[in-house]
Amino acid sequence: MSGRLVHVGSAVVDYVYRIDALPAPGSEETATSYARVAGGGFNMMVAASRTGMKVVFGGQLGTGPDGDFLRAAFAAEGIETLTPPSPLMDSGNCVAMISGDAERTFVSWPGAESRLTLDMMKPVQVLPGDWVFTSGYTLSYPGSRDVLTDWIEALPAGIPFVFDPTPVIADIPRPILDRVLARTTWLSCNTDEAAEIAGAGDAQTVAIRLLTEHCPSAEGVVIRAGALGCLVRMADGGTRTVPGFAVEAVDTNGAGDTHIGAFVSALSRGTSPCEAARYANAAAALSVTRHGGSSAPTDVEIQQFLAQ
Ligand code: ADP
Repeated sequence: MSGRLVHVGSAVVDYVYRIDALPAPGSEETATSYARVAGGGFNMMVAASRTGMKVVFGGQLGTGPDGDFLRAAFAAEGIETLTPPSPLMDSGNCVAMISGDAERTFVSWPGAESRLTLDMMKPVQVLPGDWVFTSGYTLSYPGSRDVLTDWIEALPAGIPFVFDPTPVIADIPRPILDRVLARTTWLSCNTDEAAEIAGAGDAQTVAIRLLTEHCPSAEGVVIRAGALGCLVRMADGGTRTVPGFAVEAVDTNGAGDTHIGAFVSALSRGTSPCEAARYANAAAALSVTRHGGSSAPTDVEIQQFLAQ
């Protein structure tokens, strides 16, 4: 049996308002629709869970209605929470306004996950065979990043650590980013983030720089490239461009989260990195054909899609 995914990243509640046009400062608009959904790193966990990986959450949820909402969303997806609710505050949330022209405005409040302590992390026990994941969210908060970085560095040597610097790489201080990259086993990021870490260049050159100059202990990097698919570069030298699938995209939000969740899930089952990337491309392609919320497909749906 493959190990668990121990997700030590973010989970917040997204309040999503669709509006004909974004309101100008000082004005008010009536939304045409409203939804309250689990966000942050939730979709990554859902993608891993729906593709068969046991997922546990070792990040920080809060005490209050948003924390309760997230615990219910986790339970509905079979995701166990290892940490007790923060005694300090409620979980964070994000107000998202999306116009008819797909213009977006966000206001976010990180809440409990911005105040992580080592005591809160104590129940997060990593077992042999587990995979650990975090994203850029938690590392961007001054009240959490040192604790999380120390915790990541203290992981037992054989535990694979997967890192996606999304979505706030600019807010992660470089020394923290460098320490986390140094412990990374698999880095997955989009083209912009890859260039932000390693400088501009063609994808293969950037991937090589990521491996040789930034992630010296990594087995490989994945650079996601939207509809084009992704590039996989292995530490032992091979590079593969893994093409995306042509689909009618209606909502590309969360495509990266679905991709990395499905990728880790496939790797944990012993699938080769290039096959895992193809599987992740299929999962993400299916997700972009669906609107909103947790659009990650199940393993059965992905297998049917790949068999077409
Ligand atoms: P991020 O959301 O992190 O910016 P990408 O936009 O690169 O990441 O999307 C992640 C993955 O989702 C891609 O590698 C690809 O497999 C898939 N994907 C994204 N957009 C499309 C699309 N329009 N059609 C098909 N697949 C897509």
